Amino acid sequence: MRTFKNKIKNCKKCTLCDDRENIVIGSGNEKANILFIGEAPGEKEDISGVPFCGKSGKILDELLASIKLDRNDIYITNIVKCKPPDNRDPTPLEIKVCTAYLDEQIFLINPKVICTLGRHAMNFIKLKYGLEDITTITNTHGKVFEEIEQIIIPLYHPAVALYDPTKKKELLKDFKIVKKYASKNIN
Ligand code: URA
Ligand code: SF4
Repeated sequence: MRTFKNKIKNCKKCTLCDDRENIVIGSGNEKANILFIGEAPGEKEDISGVPFCGKSGKILDELLASIKLDRNDIYITNIVKCKPPDNRDPTPLEIKVCTAYLDEQIFLINPKVICTLGRHAMNFIKLKYGLEDITTITNTHGKVFEEIEQIIIPLYHPAVALYDPTKKKELLKDFKIVKKYASKNIN
């Protein structure tokens, strides 16, 4: 992982590097059984270099606490590692270029369970594993895909709970499923 971090830390492979304060590589336990994949760093994450340290992060922490997990039990990263301007979505090209790093992280961490947060991470995993049954996030969240190397669980992005309380209920329900598959035994 150290070699990986050295390789990525000065990345200029896409134009998102122009505006970034810090690259947000990921945080948590590199030996965790469970990997969460979000979308992209926001303002706070760009300043701190830590993923999910703002409002969405607070909800994520609540959701983890609801199943008796914390950041030390998981590893968390994003589809793209640098903040897109004005909170916009990452473009298909940015995603294509940057997810070569995510592939490497998945290989290095080798988690048992991968939870995707939101549509972009879900679509990345759909493509990576050829999961035709992944359709829309509304139809797919909380479903479990048992692949040879990993168990995939698509989830809503925690940010949706900020403006829609019914989604928070769905998230809490889906995290119970995550709990079933997440073992606290660290490799
Ligand atoms: N939202 C994300 O998807 N990732 C972060 O790191 C922060 C907010
Ligand atoms: Fe490099 Fe990814 Fe940042 Fe683009 S978003 S500059 S590919 S680390």
